[in-house]
Amino acid sequence: MNSDRYSRQIMMPEFGDDGQEKLTDASILVIGAGGLGTTLLYHLAAAGIGTIGIADHDIVSISNLNRQFIYFEEDAGSLKVNSAAKKLRAFNSEINIIPHATAINKDNAYEIISQYDIVALAVDNAQARMIVNDACVDLNKPFVDGGINGFVGTTAFVDPHHTPCLACLYGTDLPPEERFSAISSVVGTIASIEATSVIQYLLDLDIPLAGHLLYYDAKSAEFEKLPMKFKEDCPICGGKKNKHK
Ligand SMILES: [Zn+2]
Repeated sequence: MNSDRYSRQIMMPEFGDDGQEKLTDASILVIGAGGLGTTLLYHLAAAGIGTIGIADHDIVSISNLNRQFIYFEEDAGSLKVNSAAKKLRAFNSEINIIPHATAINKDNAYEIISQYDIVALAVDNAQARMIVNDACVDLNKPFVDGGINGFVGTTAFVDPHHTPCLACLYGTDLPPEERFSAISSVVGTIASIEATSVIQYLLDLDIPLAGHLLYYDAKSAEFEKLPMKFKEDCPICGGKKNKHK
């Protein structure tokens, strides 16, 4: 590990050399390599997280470029995971980038997620979000979620059986898939908050978003932090703390 590269964060009392070692030894899976995911990927690679998996089945299109800076015009038509991996390896050659050229689905979620310490969700649909929620609760994997709709964004951190899960928050009746609008500056705000929560978790710091939903409305420039509540008899997490403890 090149300490000079990380010197500006190692000087933080919450980091130090020990904290940087924790990041070097850690692994994270970023699910979705769109606007949220690609911003997350740059933050996580910059911080020096040692192993970063990327799961996405999509290819790069020109309409991605208003918010997905990891891709260039010449990448149009390429698999997103391959293009993102190439950029991240050039950006930080000390870390291990693992592309998974697939959407996360019920058949592969457990096998892929179980390989990582923590998950960052960066998808644009409730179906994928709930598949990951179910698998992470069963596998006891913490995860951070982010969502965007134009000038509004949300993010939440779930630590299974210590905090409510996304099914407690949203229920299990999923809305139909729809295409949400997105502007890079709002996407970047939410993805940056997701990345900070991941780093706080990996450094064993307090995670202020654990068990909370953070709501950001860029039209009023206001954040609202709302506690998530366990849902009685949640079919996914059981609706109570420490089910497995
Ligand atoms: Zn639940």
